[in-house]
Amino acid sequence: MPATPAYPPHSAPRLYVDVELSEGAEIRLDGSHAHYLLKVMRIKQDQPVKLFDDRTGEYLAHVTMVGKRDLILLIDGKTRERENVPDLWLLAAPIKKDRYNWIAEKATELGITKMIPIQTQRTQNTGIKPDKLRAHMIEAAEQCERTALPELEPLIKLEALLDSWPGDRHLFFADERIHESGAGSFRKALVAHAGPAALLIGPEGGFSDVENEMIRALPQSVPVSLGPRILRADTAAVAAISLWMAGRGDWNG
Ligand code: SAM
Repeated sequence: MPATPAYPPHSAPRLYVDVELSEGAEIRLDGSHAHYLLKVMRIKQDQPVKLFDDRTGEYLAHVTMVGKRDLILLIDGKTRERENVPDLWLLAAPIKKDRYNWIAEKATELGITKMIPIQTQRTQNTGIKPDKLRAHMIEAAEQCERTALPELEPLIKLEALLDSWPGDRHLFFADERIHESGAGSFRKALVAHAGPAALLIGPEGGFSDVENEMIRALPQSVPVSLGPRILRADTAAVAAISLWMAGRGDWNG
């Protein structure tokens, strides 16, 4: 007897749509969504599509009309509520475009709530394109089955952000200089600091001495080491998020 097909079918394409969804509603897709379903996934009449709206949750729909450049889907039912992701922000100084898009993608997969590009003294690439970055975050959320999208804030100067830092949020400051002092154990920092958190990752050139002092002067800042080796900023971002998620996040740690 054929195995009962998984419900919703794992293979069904999954898309984020920026409209509030509900059971029984019809939705017309065109533009990049239609191109993806028609040209890439070669979707057919009656085939299933998973949709999420970053407001109410995830739904299963099926195709009722296939046009040349658009489709109509009927929403059959809700499959999942919008998730509560752990309260973690990523503050990362922009680096080369592709690698910064990569950070945004991986940070979304790993489960952050918000990403804030930080302009520091040694930040070279300030030409980040928020739309492109957002598109990478949405694609990553579609693929990793998130039902809540991370927020993306506009680029902000480090000192401006520190001036208005929320009192209840710990700032885990990835400091490549702290390891040799023997301090900065990330594991111990996680044990000691529960609650809303943020990770601060510097540019390729690192933070200047003035910035280092400014960050350390913030009562909520917690300098942490990511080991004795100097990691590239994108590696450091993924390592730090993974450590926090395993220790304080939703990885059943
Ligand atoms: N300026 C540094 C240097 O050349 O010595 C390297 C900066 S590193 C490429 C970029 C950022 O990654 C750093 O500002 C820091 O936030 C983080 N990072 C890299 N390695 C680290 C480590 N071993 N421990 C803590 N943070 C690290």
